[in-house]
Amino acid sequence: MGRINAPKYVISVLERLERRGFEAYMVGGCVRDLVMGRRPCDWDVCTSALPEDVMAVFRRSHPTGLKHGTVTVISHGSPVEVTTFRSDGEYRDHRRPESVRFIADLNSDLERRDFTINALAMPLSGEIRDPFGGRHDIEKKLIRCVGDPEKRFDEDALRMLRAFRFSAVLGFGIAPATLSAIKSKAHLTEDLAKERVRTELEKILLSYSPQVISDVIEYGLLRGIVADSSAKAELYRLGGLPKNRTLRWAGLCALLRSVGVISDTESFLTALRLDSAVIRNCSKGCAAVSEGAPKDTISWKRLLASNGMETALCAAAAADALFGTGNLRLLRSVIQSGECFSLRQLAVSGKDLKALGFQGTELGVALSSLLDHVIIYPADNKKELLLNLAYKMERA
Ligand code: ATP
Ligand code: MG
Repeated sequence: MGRINAPKYVISVLERLERRGFEAYMVGGCVRDLVMGRRPCDWDVCTSALPEDVMAVFRRSHPTGLKHGTVTVISHGSPVEVTTFRSDGEYRDHRRPESVRFIADLNSDLERRDFTINALAMPLSGEIRDPFGGRHDIEKKLIRCVGDPEKRFDEDALRMLRAFRFSAVLGFGIAPATLSAIKSKAHLTEDLAKERVRTELEKILLSYSPQVISDVIEYGLLRGIVADSSAKAELYRLGGLPKNRTLRWAGLCALLRSVGVISDTESFLTALRLDSAVIRNCSKGCAAVSEGAPKDTISWKRLLASNGMETALCAAAAADALFGTGNLRLLRSVIQSGECFSLRQLAVSGKDLKALGFQGTELGVALSSLLDHVIIYPADNKKELLLNLAYKMERA
């Protein structure tokens, strides 16, 4: 073989299906990525074989999405999703097809796919099937719906967010008719499950063009989630943050809040169903720098002491997004310096102070004072010295 540039475990799936007389193709994003010279992140296969045929061909297979005709087969130890050619029935609530119908024809399967660049299929021979001009659109760097865009967004409103996601990730523009359909159908996104919206937003956030989120907001795709779709935030600043989801969410929230697109970080992230750690660290981090970033290492150590590492990192990311770079770098150098900024690192413990006669709240206050002392004078983080200081405190 070797005519197509795909991993052995995927080629083997195509070979085994073809050997049994079925049609089999790599399909969708992986073919688009191959054409573009990008490394696909996952490999989907479509076939004329019915799910039960697929399961008969592959001993190691699981019916992971049987309703939609998807069987996951394990090939050379790796999972590959194999889906029977299908066409989607009527759509309910602009989200999911009411029913799916298995069909014998590849072209009708490609017709149900969202964008021309994603409606490509490649068999073992390497001869790409491209009935909607996907390769031409890849050349022109364009996201274009397969068929009538308004109808396609009526069927599934998530496709509008996917259009912006592919635009951000691939650096493509959106075809005029597709864009104007987004304008007229934007309101349909209000009914989408917020987890699906968040997944697309996060992919944009972690791309090279996170500022595309401005377009998502401006076109009204976050209606009901943001307070004001018309305000403009300078989201290109997010491109300077590390590609870390929590830090980029923190930067995004800080920028959106600063111009009033969102009024409250916690409710925004909660509405998008982010996990509680991200919600907590981002909202505390944004709040800590809303009036300005800590200017020196001592202030960063105080922020670390009162809020912990994760929140401090979010605060620094928010500060970088709001006020310009340098905060994350400074914070990281503070963390790596080995200087004390937490009770855990303090050279004396509660037990030591108890032995000196401290109790209850007095003990807590003494520990905090000692911590603040070594935050200012890092060289003083020595047991004997601190016990001496505590002794003086007790007598004062
Ligand atoms: P990625 O590179 O992020 O995996 P992808 O294009 O492979 O992007 P997936 O979400 O993995 O996207 O979906 C695989 C394929 O299934 C798509 O390329 C497209 O052909 C089709 N598809 C996925 N979601 C939709 C949708 N909402 N409407 C129509 N077709 C879709
Ligand atoms: Mg994919």
